[in-house]
Amino acid sequence: MGALAVALTAAAAVAIPAAPAEAASGKVVYLTFDDGPSPTYTPRILGILSRYGVRATFFEIGENVAAHPAITAQVARQGHSVQNHSWSHPDLRRLSGSAVSSQIAGTDRVIRAQTGRTPTCLRPPYGAVNSTVRSRAAALGKQVVLWSVDPTDWSRPGTAAIQSRVLNNVRPGSVILLHDGGGDRSQTAAALPTILSTLKARGYTFATLCG
Ligand SMILES: [Zn+2]
Repeated sequence: MGALAVALTAAAAVAIPAAPAEAASGKVVYLTFDDGPSPTYTPRILGILSRYGVRATFFEIGENVAAHPAITAQVARQGHSVQNHSWSHPDLRRLSGSAVSSQIAGTDRVIRAQTGRTPTCLRPPYGAVNSTVRSRAAALGKQVVLWSVDPTDWSRPGTAAIQSRVLNNVRPGSVILLHDGGGDRSQTAAALPTILSTLKARGYTFATLCG
């Protein structure tokens, strides 16, 4: 019994310094917010991210940036990455090549005007891509970025469902899809504090995508 107790104590002692090393070696998660900026929900979500010291990536719609440019500027000022989610959220596969290019380039222009940076990534609406979308995106210097964890928060399944779908599926390196625009996002905002505190307690750190 004495030897067993000593072995358990020794195991517990080495487990404590191992946790920060594990975090440093790649327990990273990427939060992403699509379809903003929204004058109602984006500032609310920015406040929560700031309270937890977390940075995220916002894939914004050009026409929403044009309508609420100061919010896009605020997103960038708080250290988040602002990226391209097309001008008007069409299925880009249904557009001509030149229309795809103007959806991307117009959005670049309004984001650059507020952030001083040209987006380096495109998240195509619905994740819908074909060879035309890929080649037009590449020609405009864009990497196509999708996601790996989708709680379908846009369908408003309830705050608890959004939390459990994220927390049950997250892995190191996960790209989590959430929405700050496109409708009532109060459930998404309400789900965030628990998602952030739980991931932090599990040793995750948060990083932005696309520079
Ligand atoms: Zn979208």
